[in-house]
Amino acid sequence: MSSEWYYDSPSTVAGTLQRGLGRGAALVRDPEDVMACVRRDHRFWWIFDDRALYLARLVRDLGIDAGRIVDVLRGEDDDNAVGNATQVLVQLGRGGDQVAIDGLREYVRRGADRVDELEEIAAAWPAELWDDLLPVAADRLRPGDMMGFATGEPGSAAGWRVDRVSNQSTGYCPDPECWPAVAAALDAAGTPHPGGFTDAVLFRRCTSCGQRNIVHDGDFACAVCDAPLPVDG
Ligand SMILES: [Zn+2]
Repeated sequence: MSSEWYYDSPSTVAGTLQRGLGRGAALVRDPEDVMACVRRDHRFWWIFDDRALYLARLVRDLGIDAGRIVDVLRGEDDDNAVGNATQVLVQLGRGGDQVAIDGLREYVRRGADRVDELEEIAAAWPAELWDDLLPVAADRLRPGDMMGFATGEPGSAAGWRVDRVSNQSTGYCPDPECWPAVAAALDAAGTPHPGGFTDAVLFRRCTSCGQRNIVHDGDFACAVCDAPLPVDG
């Protein structure tokens, strides 16, 4: 398969669906055109563009069995397909589709790292559809995950409380000083938190070999080439 991917022409049905256009919804007849958009998130700006409701309506209007979207979750290791299928199932479940509800609940219950999916569910569904899954997810989180979630106090609005937060993300290497941004995000979500990183980690990139290092015990030396690491930022 080629790594290059292009949108289909906006004059085709597939092209309109890939762009989330209203006229695509009016034109589409083939369920496979919709399934192609469920299997691959086509949004250009995924932060601003909420496509799941659009796709969920098409799934419903064309009579596509939600079980086919549950199968996308089961069959794909690709984060993009899983994230997109999850969001569509969340919307279908919100509309009362029992196949979507059961399938997504089962997916969260069975998987090792499905906190993201559980958060999507918790944001959209009434608590009785997911609060029994919280202890399952909390038990699964291992040391080294960036956040340790625990179930909230009974009756708390969010149902979540964060009891452990680390900046140890080897992908992003956030500085411990980024805590205010983390706190703001948790506050906005109404999630109680410990008020600071419980496991703060200092990252430094080696200016000599480029390796990312975690500084242990104040020893600013690269683990790979032994060059001194920058002490200030
Ligand atoms: Zn180095």
